[in-house]
Amino acid sequence: MNNNQEIPYKIYLSEDEMPTHYYNMRADMKQKPSPLLNPATHQPMTLDELSGVFCRELAQQELDDKTPYFDIPAEIRQFYKMYRPSPVVRAYELERVLGTPAHIYYKFEGNNTSGSHKLNSAIAQAYYAKKQGLKGVTTETGAGQWGTALSMACGYLGLDCRVYMVKTSYEQKPFRKEVMRTYGASVTPSPSDTTEVGRKILAEHPNTTGSLGCAISEAVEYAVTHEGYRYVLGSVLNQVLLHQSIIGLEAKTALDKYNIVPDVIIGCAGGGSNLGGLIAPFMGQKLRGEADYQIIAIEPASCPSFTRGVYAYDFCDTGMICPLAKMYTLGCDFIPSANHAGGLRYHGMSPALSELYHQGLMEARSVIQTDVFDAAVLFARAEGTLPAPESSHAIRVAIDEALRCKETGESKNILFGLTGTGYYDLYAYAQYNDHTMTDYIPTDEDLKRSLDKLPKMD
Ligand SMILES: *Cc1c(COP(=O)(O)O)cnc(C)c1O
Repeated sequence: MNNNQEIPYKIYLSEDEMPTHYYNMRADMKQKPSPLLNPATHQPMTLDELSGVFCRELAQQELDDKTPYFDIPAEIRQFYKMYRPSPVVRAYELERVLGTPAHIYYKFEGNNTSGSHKLNSAIAQAYYAKKQGLKGVTTETGAGQWGTALSMACGYLGLDCRVYMVKTSYEQKPFRKEVMRTYGASVTPSPSDTTEVGRKILAEHPNTTGSLGCAISEAVEYAVTHEGYRYVLGSVLNQVLLHQSIIGLEAKTALDKYNIVPDVIIGCAGGGSNLGGLIAPFMGQKLRGEADYQIIAIEPASCPSFTRGVYAYDFCDTGMICPLAKMYTLGCDFIPSANHAGGLRYHGMSPALSELYHQGLMEARSVIQTDVFDAAVLFARAEGTLPAPESSHAIRVAIDEALRCKETGESKNILFGLTGTGYYDLYAYAQYNDHTMTDYIPTDEDLKRSLDKLPKMD
């Protein structure tokens, strides 16, 4: 429903209108996501067990599926003010180019040096680690967005930051490493000889180019074997979705100012954190029976966790040392084919989103990368902003939905998450512009190979 009030290109909030609380969707879920399990005993992870890996307050957030709202500490809100609130943008130019009667809105999270939404959780996780008096945190990074975000947060708070970076990215994206080092982080290509699991993987696969799952194993091992260190993760976990709810809370406040109700909400899904954050307050209404929205997760056809994975307990890492999570997964050994350039490479999906999808409260679609980059280029030329390849998965489907409205004459309100800028992935754009980008969709046999190794649960 669109009223005639003039809607500006960008809907900003004032500092006073910024959220003061994170929203925890799980509080409103009747059927809760399944708990993380200890990989040795298959019993639910206790607060004490989790506190050995994560800092204590984050472990509490991870386990809390009852409390709907968590205060955002003043220090974190202060940091947010340096790059938030992020605008909701009305994509007038894209609508014009498409000739659609639909109204398209996007929430843009790329306006900070790290270039993505990941900073929203990085500062929260670094803050709680600092508050606990820790020396530092460890993590993994693939393309480098999370490592960069965490470096910025740790640099600000004076916390040591050790990043295990997937070896291919380390070699292909040397400037990413430089940004992290500038903010004070140390960056190690993974697999490395600095951990036992890294040495083991190198001995078995000397020429491996690394994977996210392997880098996670290394980062966790370093944290649990070094005094004063904890591990932090940039997606998948409940605590990360909680922090990212700031995206959806801001978006809803902005849209409410103009009485705009989104009919369709679209987001790309790697581990699920930006989508979980964007939809949080809307899903909350849906769970409480106050409103209904069509919610669509978009994933790459080359890494189709929701659309072709199974809903089962699996390891979060290749080294099989992290807790088991029940989620839509392709198996923890799954690595997308080498020609995959569009990000969103993780084998699993947030347990909370997995449960919502399982209950039919949201949909999922997969898209091939050449179609994704067609959409990215169309968007860039119309709207000016160069989108991240990950975000462009959402753009693809937002455009498809807007074109469908053109056929039916419906003037739907479409909201999507523009999670980041494309500056850091020009290698992928080069492949597209050179026409060397190809598509590979894994066969059922490809998937079976990694799915066969799912842990046996009795
Ligand atoms: C990491 C990243 C994603 C995917 O991660 P989610 O946890 O699924 O949100 C999407 N877009 C950008 C720009 C990213 O850096």
